[in-house]
Amino acid sequence: MATRRKVVALSGGIGGAKLALGLARVLAPGDLTIIANVGDDFEHLGLHVSPDIDTLVYTLAGLANPELGWGRTGETWTFMATLEQLGGPAWFRLGDGDLAMHVMRTHRRAQGVPLSTVTADICAALGVVPRVLPATDDSVRTRVRLDEGWLDFQDWFVGRRAAPPVRELAFDGAATARPLPAVLDALADPELHAVVVCPSNPLISIEPILCVPGLREAVRACTAPVVAVSPLIGGRAVKGPTAAMLNDLGAGATVGAVVERYRDLLDGFVLDEADAEAAPALAVPTIATKTLMLTLADRIRLAEDVLAFADRIGATPG
Ligand code: GDP
Repeated sequence: MATRRKVVALSGGIGGAKLALGLARVLAPGDLTIIANVGDDFEHLGLHVSPDIDTLVYTLAGLANPELGWGRTGETWTFMATLEQLGGPAWFRLGDGDLAMHVMRTHRRAQGVPLSTVTADICAALGVVPRVLPATDDSVRTRVRLDEGWLDFQDWFVGRRAAPPVRELAFDGAATARPLPAVLDALADPELHAVVVCPSNPLISIEPILCVPGLREAVRACTAPVVAVSPLIGGRAVKGPTAAMLNDLGAGATVGAVVERYRDLLDGFVLDEADAEAAPALAVPTIATKTLMLTLADRIRLAEDVLAFADRIGATPG
């Protein structure tokens, strides 16, 4: 029988889901638990939309839309076309199949079913084997302060195409949110092999997970090595506003700035070959490898590299 290697991954949407899929392919069924960001969640047209959970679920179910980078493959758009015809809001696009997901989630939550249970049921229905756990069942909502004032996350990210510079971030509800018990259990598991911080935006995908009270401490306290993968390649984001946000918030778009976000947690950092010369200054064990995941083979190879690195760290005493 193959040795079990239980892994917990912290993930946002697009970048995180790519590595999560690689990990899912490398690990035995049941060994991967993914802690998902809920800071991007919002209510739209009365529906509870969970963009990062949905990206993870679609990716792991083989249903992700490769052209758009979000939403479902083979999607149809009758709902959107009709909504626009009726004068409804068109800034946030909801495909027909995607819409069913949000309707189901909203309906069940209105019946008092927690987000984590709804997510588990959706995963089961779509044949997703890894456990996808929202960091919390409570509401945590990312907000951004622009020069003109505070905005809800999606109003900036989608509504304003993430263009105006962000001066400050807030996570509404975080102070009173409770971590999901299953998340704490997964991190406290004595058989845990590694914690992988996926190549997600550290400011708006990983921070809203870690700012749930007790969660950062639980990652820090876990006995398994904690390894983060850089979401920057050569000082640039593959997609999205990570580099611009790090610059606008004064940290600088460097792998060093990413490491600083996780300094208290990290046992190892995986950076891209393009950034290899930055490694000695990071003051944390590193490996440099190809981190751009264009194909499924890229995702699997990076997952193998990350796990082999965690193995080496875990085998080193102290
Ligand atoms: P979001 O929640 O949809 O914004 O997605 P994430 O936060 O999970 O991912 C956004 C980050 O993923 C950006 O910083 C991207 O640079 C990074 N990213 C996307 N694809 C890749 C990739 O193939 N390799 C690496 N290293 N980073 C990636």
